[in-house]
Amino acid sequence: MTHEAALRLGIFLGLLAAFALWEALAPRRADPPARTRRWPVNLAFVVLGGLVTRVVLPGGVAAFAASAQANGWGFLAALAIPDWAAFVVSIVALDLAIYFQHRLFHRIPVFWSIHRMHHSDTMFDVSTAVRFHPVEIGLSLAIKVAVVAVIGASPESVLAFEILLNAASLFNHTNGRMPDWIERPLRLIVVTPDMHRIHHSARREETDSNFGFSVSIWDRLFATYRAEPADGQDGLTIGLESYRERESQGLLRLLAQPFGRGQ
Ligand SMILES: [Zn+2]
Repeated sequence: MTHEAALRLGIFLGLLAAFALWEALAPRRADPPARTRRWPVNLAFVVLGGLVTRVVLPGGVAAFAASAQANGWGFLAALAIPDWAAFVVSIVALDLAIYFQHRLFHRIPVFWSIHRMHHSDTMFDVSTAVRFHPVEIGLSLAIKVAVVAVIGASPESVLAFEILLNAASLFNHTNGRMPDWIERPLRLIVVTPDMHRIHHSARREETDSNFGFSVSIWDRLFATYRAEPADGQDGLTIGLESYRERESQGLLRLLAQPFGRGQ
C-alpha cells in the first residue's frame, strides 16, 4: 500500500469510529439504526469501491495528477501564481465540480438510476456515507480525472481534496446530535448532518436540494439550498418509496438496482 493510501485509510477508519461513537452515544433521530442489518451491506461498498478504483485507476487520482502536471496540462500551468494559490484554486474547483456532478447525477435519468442506490438507504447514519454503487465510483473517478486535467491540479491538492471530501461526507451523514447554537453558525460554512439529511428525504423536491458535500456556499449560491424539511427533522421520511421493503436492501439487490425499475 502506498503512503497516500495508508494515510487515507487511517483517516477514514479514525473518523468512521469517532462518528459511529458519537451517533451511538447521542443520536439525532430516535429511529432504530438497524446496524446489524445495514452496516455489513453498506461497508461492503467500501471494499467494492476500492476494487473499482484499483482496476480503473491503479495509482488513484493523485498519481494521475502527477503525470498530468509533468505533461504541463491544465490552466494552472499557464498561470504564474504561487503554489499555495494554485493549491486553493484546485481544491475550490474540484469541490465545485463535485457539486455539479451531484446535480447531474440527480438530473439525468441514467445517472440517477445509479446514484439512487445511495438514496435508497432507509436510514441515515455514518455508514450511509460510503454506500455508493461501484459504477458511480467509476464514473466519479472519470469525472475527477477530467477536472484534474483541465485544472492542472497538483497531486498534493488532489490528495488533500480527497481526504477533505471523504471526511466531510462521513461527517454530514452522521446521526449525531448537535446543539442548535453550534449547528446554526456551523451551517453558514459547512454542510451539517441536519442540512444533508434533507437531501435523503423521500420527498423528491427535498432530495433535489442540498447537493453540497463540504461547504454550504454552493447550494446557497446556486439556489438549491433548503433550510428545513417539510415534515421536520424528526418526521422526515428517509429513503425512496420504491425501495422500502427489506428484500430490496440486500447487497446483490442493491448492485442490481440501477438495472431494475424504480422511482
Ligand atoms: Zn444525491
